[in-house]
Amino acid sequence: MEIRFEQRQNLKEKPNMNELGFGKYYTDHMFMVDWIEGKGFVDPRIIPYGPIEFDPASLVLHYAQETFEGMKAYKTEDGRILLFRPDMNAKRFQTSNERLCMPTVPVEDFIQAVHELVKKEASWIPTNPGTSLYIRPFMFAYQPKLGVHAASHYKFMVILSPVGSYYKEGLKPVSIYVEDQLVRAVKGGTGFAKCGGNYASSILAQMKAEEMGYSQVLWLDGVEHKYVEEVGTMNAMFVIDGKIVTAPLEGSVLPGVTRDSMIQVLKSKGYTVEERKLSIDELIEAAKNGKLTEAFGTGTAAVISPIGKLAYKDEIFFDNNKIGEISQMLYDTLTGIQTGKIEDTFGWTYEVK
Ligand SMILES: *Cc1c(COP(=O)(O)O)cnc(C)c1O
Repeated sequence: MEIRFEQRQNLKEKPNMNELGFGKYYTDHMFMVDWIEGKGFVDPRIIPYGPIEFDPASLVLHYAQETFEGMKAYKTEDGRILLFRPDMNAKRFQTSNERLCMPTVPVEDFIQAVHELVKKEASWIPTNPGTSLYIRPFMFAYQPKLGVHAASHYKFMVILSPVGSYYKEGLKPVSIYVEDQLVRAVKGGTGFAKCGGNYASSILAQMKAEEMGYSQVLWLDGVEHKYVEEVGTMNAMFVIDGKIVTAPLEGSVLPGVTRDSMIQVLKSKGYTVEERKLSIDELIEAAKNGKLTEAFGTGTAAVISPIGKLAYKDEIFFDNNKIGEISQMLYDTLTGIQTGKIEDTFGWTYEVK
């Protein structure tokens, strides 16, 4: 793919790299390519970052034909730029797009778009501990038409945002409310796809949790409201009796790159990982018997989010309010590999040269 470059006239002023937050600032340029039925991908370009115009009848605004990815670029101490398993994101983007009846981007084109944009914006990659350049590839339907059907016109874009730690307080245990009414996804739906619609329908539960003083929800399965699936927008893991238990990928759970990486790190260190159904009753029982020693969420944005408190139907059944040993080890190992501080024996890092 030949990417055209249109340089911005006046480069933006860089933000204070000590107060980045998450998703507050965007870099000077963005990647964009159109997909038009009968023509395929047209005019891949890196252009000045800014508002884009499209018709009010664009399909995405009405029927939410939209998918996205989330990944990060890191600068190592010796100045190299590293991506983490970009092929996994590229492949998942294809899976999501297939589910939403959208065109798939070839893996090498997806990686090339990210690579070239990150390289152009290298001066935006923050270097303070815990910071990185967040990468947001996404695609949406912009054909103006109100009939419900797959669109004929799409844009695939990539934008970049320098980010600090996901949580203002850094790696800190969060309190979680088990949501037993609202559901995130069901098998047969779009739970395994990274699409905006999943997020739109999750906000109500998040707000409910926040009103009650919790920071996120633990989702139960959509059929029986019995098995634990994900925590907020992260995969969930539990250490029970020394073994790590996480929900299996059976259609309603998003196949996280961090989840997969954690499983491999854990297995390489001799831990037993069980990808299996875990009922809320078993979880509460394990907590009461003292067998539940750690719980945490995993995802690109936060890497690890230790769960310090868990509540179900007004009862707090897990309350240790600390960062567990395994959580800390996983955080250190993964961020170590991602930032080039620890040797990458898995072959996960990809250098942007
Ligand atoms: C993106 C996402 C995750 C985490 O995936 P990573 O690839 O690890 O970032 C988990 N659950 C949901 C619902 C997500 O959207």
